Amino acid sequence: MDLHTVEALRSPTTRAELWPLDAGDAILSGGTWLFSEPQPGLRRLIDVTALGWPPITLSDSGIELAATCTVAQVSGLSAGLAASHPRWTAAPLLHQCCTALVASPKIWRTATVGGNVCLSFPAGSMISLLSALDGTVTVWRPDGTEYVVPVTDFVTGASANVLAVGDVVRSVHLPAAALTAGTAYRKLAPSPLGRSGIVVIGRRDIDGGLVLAVTAATVRPYVFRHPSVPTSDELAAWHAGIPEGQWTDDAHGDPDWRRAVTLVLAEQIRAELS
Ligand SMILES: Cc1cc2nc3c(=O)[nH]c(=O)nc-3n(C[C@H](O)[C@H](O)[C@H](O)COP(=O)(O)OP(=O)(O)OC[C@H]3O[C@@H](n4cnc5c(N)ncnc54)[C@H](O)[C@@H]3O)c2cc1C
Repeated sequence: MDLHTVEALRSPTTRAELWPLDAGDAILSGGTWLFSEPQPGLRRLIDVTALGWPPITLSDSGIELAATCTVAQVSGLSAGLAASHPRWTAAPLLHQCCTALVASPKIWRTATVGGNVCLSFPAGSMISLLSALDGTVTVWRPDGTEYVVPVTDFVTGASANVLAVGDVVRSVHLPAAALTAGTAYRKLAPSPLGRSGIVVIGRRDIDGGLVLAVTAATVRPYVFRHPSVPTSDELAAWHAGIPEGQWTDDAHGDPDWRRAVTLVLAEQIRAELS
């Protein structure tokens, strides 16, 4: 849709040219959300795609995805890693999490990791991926400094995160240690083409530890870590500790349904990864 209040589009090509930014400015990445609804408070768009960030950087420490990396590129990594990094057994999870963003190939080729994380929707599929694999987010501040924060601390609520005015997400990182795990994935949505209502992902590390990440069902990610496979009672006790008001309440599922079914899916994953 046309954004009638927007008066200017900037396309910086260097880090220094990103700023100044104020509350009337928005970073433009894929634009699949920005152009999908009215943005009455916006005056300028700052297109970060001209910065030329390499979308994917593989190293011994893991995978760095630029904020401008598209969902389609993340999905394509799964197949590529099977050949190039066979020890990264969690690779199929990248594509699986992309399928939690039910959209046309055109949207997949345009929507970005940074846009998904910055929107901080409960059903943020890249947030699900990062939560399950100990992902971190690198943020550039206007003063030239930067900070790295776990995605579980980056997202603070439904459409809420730690970004201050002028902050720009540069990249996300998936550590190699988490990528060597076995994983199990469950996603439910009330309608076949609808947004995720519940996403539960399990990870069994090579040291025997188990990690369980709940997203979409809750307004921000909840991650359970246990040094071995927990008992059903231990899992249920952790689940019961998620505060009442943290279960997502929107058109994609009632909080009671999300709370009850999350435990069912978590127990399935516990059994699968035992
Ligand atoms: C059919 C369809 C289905 C969708 N399904 C889902 C879904 O299941 N789950 C979901 O979460 N979303 C969904 N979306 C919403 C959206 O398309 C995705 O979240 C997408 O990943 C956003 O990425 P983008 O690059 O298009 O973001 P943009 O629209 O470019 O930006 C989104 C927001 O993030 C900010 N931003 C972008 N990049 C940065 C950056 N580097 N630093 C700081 N701020 C930044 C922008 O200013 C804006 O506020 C869907 C959209 C469509 C059209």
